[in-house]
Amino acid sequence: MTTRRNFLKNTSLCALGGLFATKATNMQAALRNTPAISRTTAAKNLGLQIYSLGGELFENVPVGLKKLKDMGYATIELAGYSPGKVGNVDMMEFKKMADDAGLVILSSHVNPPVHQYTKDNKGQILEFWKQTADDHAKMGVKYLVQPGQPSTRSLEETQYVCEVFNDSGKVIKAAGLPFGYHNHDFEFAKVVPGGTEAKFNRHGKGDAVYDVFLRETDPSLVFFEMDVFWTVMGQNDPVRYLKQYPDRFKLLHIKDSSVLGQSGMMNFETIFNQFYANGNKDYFVELEGMGNGTQFEGVKGCADYLLKSDFVK
Ligand code: MG
Repeated sequence: MTTRRNFLKNTSLCALGGLFATKATNMQAALRNTPAISRTTAAKNLGLQIYSLGGELFENVPVGLKKLKDMGYATIELAGYSPGKVGNVDMMEFKKMADDAGLVILSSHVNPPVHQYTKDNKGQILEFWKQTADDHAKMGVKYLVQPGQPSTRSLEETQYVCEVFNDSGKVIKAAGLPFGYHNHDFEFAKVVPGGTEAKFNRHGKGDAVYDVFLRETDPSLVFFEMDVFWTVMGQNDPVRYLKQYPDRFKLLHIKDSSVLGQSGMMNFETIFNQFYANGNKDYFVELEGMGNGTQFEGVKGCADYLLKSDFVK
């Protein structure tokens, strides 16, 4: 088994030992000594939500993106959009840096500027999505995803959110992009007609907000990116949702309580198997703040876990 420590050691030994020696005669021997983990890198479709790196990426974006490529990542999902920019970098410059690193920008997380959706601010929300979708279409991004939950205190408010999601999906689709929604755990709280607050109550009355979202959004306008960790934290089974709605989940967030595979609380094998059985392939690793070490080290630990897992393609 290749532990992170061993892998780091192997990598530095390879560098010191001349893995990249220029003499052709040395190349075969060097390849034979390359850790198995590196040889499988190119074959896998690893994606990363760049939020996982926090501010570390923006210390030097071109170098940071190249590091991700070297770890085995092939695609990224953006966070930190503001009109024309990703973080503090012009969007088109960011795209060139990703191209130069050999990474595909597949998706982007963006929240509209309001939390509570009303008839008065729907126009403002749709106008925001129009500009956002146009910006992302120019950049060649394939999916636009809302990661934040709007206010859903009652069944009626939740249904209105679905109406705005559908209308947002239309505006974004007109720019050539599909619109998706990403969950946390609070979508698994329940709402009732005329309610004043969504509540976690597995055996109580009402509908989980997530179920209302799935039921009352138009599949041709809204898809779902399931964060499998937050689904489990909401006391639900990601595989049950993947089986019940095989056509709704185009993307996954592959996340654990820290570096992937270390907590033992996530059954990633059954999740990946069902996701692939549904005909999908694109997912993004997500990592919250690391207790020890840098975010880059944690993100590398996640890549190592996926590269050595036979069930991951
Ligand atoms: Mg997530």
